[in-house]
Amino acid sequence: MLRYKNSNYNVIFEDGDKVVFVNLLTEAIATVNKEKYNKIKEIMESPNKEWSREYADLKNDLIYGGYLIEENFDEIQHLKAMNYRSRYDASFISFTIMPTMRCNLDCIYCYETHEGPTMDEKTTETVANYISTVAKSKRRIHIGWFGGEPLLKFDTMKYINEKVIKACEEYKTNFSSSISTNGYLLSAEKAKLFDELMIRNVQITLDGPKEYHDKYRPLKGGGPTYDIMFENIKNFFELTKESRITLRVNVGPDNYDAIYKLVDALEILPKDRLRIYFRWIFQGGETEKEIHREVMNFRGENSYEKLAKFYYYASQKGFETFLPILSNPIYCEYDCESSILIGPKGEVFPCTVAVNEGNEFGKVTNNGIEYDKTKYLLWYKHDAFQDEECKKCELLPQCFGGCRNAIVNSGVRGCPEEKTALESFARLWYFTKDMERKLKAVKKDENIKV
Ligand code: SF4
Ligand code: SF4
Repeated sequence: MLRYKNSNYNVIFEDGDKVVFVNLLTEAIATVNKEKYNKIKEIMESPNKEWSREYADLKNDLIYGGYLIEENFDEIQHLKAMNYRSRYDASFISFTIMPTMRCNLDCIYCYETHEGPTMDEKTTETVANYISTVAKSKRRIHIGWFGGEPLLKFDTMKYINEKVIKACEEYKTNFSSSISTNGYLLSAEKAKLFDELMIRNVQITLDGPKEYHDKYRPLKGGGPTYDIMFENIKNFFELTKESRITLRVNVGPDNYDAIYKLVDALEILPKDRLRIYFRWIFQGGETEKEIHREVMNFRGENSYEKLAKFYYYASQKGFETFLPILSNPIYCEYDCESSILIGPKGEVFPCTVAVNEGNEFGKVTNNGIEYDKTKYLLWYKHDAFQDEECKKCELLPQCFGGCRNAIVNSGVRGCPEEKTALESFARLWYFTKDMERKLKAVKKDENIKV
């Protein structure tokens, strides 16, 4: 008879008269009443006892959800295989291209310099040729546009996407594209071309309702940005058929109480093509230390719960929300050797936060990418499965080793805040999934009526 043990990644908590089971590895989420929970508790305490029929059925459910696993099943090894498959998957390739380091805005906390190069014609050609050649040997190619503000170089975006789309059609390679923009330059003229350029996802950052957004994200040289950006978002949905918008809402001590107002203002947008997530204002630079300290003080010990309340609010209003940590079996896309960030001079950088001069570890040339092997190996060296802390950590199945930039550049493990708020994280996850399920049920009902 097979012998069983408890998974190391069960998180169990009460929610009113129910008990919720979340398994961080299988991502199973189940709810039971308290009477059933008491029986489950007995089974989990002695999983290998001879159980009566009723208990045996419950035990099978626990096995199915991965809450109980075979005694010889090695969860760490299983996670490692998942992680390595993603990190070293060579069937696809994802490029993030920064066509310029310049920006039309002057966000008060931005870590980028706003100065610096933009991509010239020669580099544009080299990059376009390189990606088109790569299309031959890949099943899937993605191009994400990033900056500075990439829409300042829309011609470059258009040129590269058109050329690569053509190559992908020739080689039957799947192509997709996305952009991170501040939205101010997302005019009707440009938006109309997004379907053709296959830019399916647009990420825009909001810093609160108008009064805060205008204060945090003014135009270079001064001037408000919220109204134009918001108008552009509204028009965007009418001018494109398939593209979706992801809104990243930056939260800080100043705008904290105004975030509900922002979520209310978003209600006029089509919810089926929009998703939202909330993040603390990101502090990447050395020069913004005062702001950094203010944000850290404000976040305090229950930082995660402070942010979670906006997820609860937005989900209840019917918005699709998402928790970035739940995406793939990696921590961030720059864990993958197939995620390549190209700067305006054709430099290859390790990640979008490590784009300062001196951090580049490669260059796109007419012969492909030439890497500085020492820097390259250093970037990919950290491995959660050789790190005793990570191997012991309950968040490992969702974190997979944390921010690489933190460990490479400061030697400190880049644990996300979910680590210190594991139950809150599991609660929020359960809640957003539950809301999603209920919304789908409502939509299905509406369809029946139609
Ligand atoms: S939370 Fe920290 S310790 Fe845990 S897996 Fe992530 S990086 Fe490692
Ligand atoms: S490595 Fe860290 S800093 Fe760089 S993009 Fe990933 S999570 Fe962000």
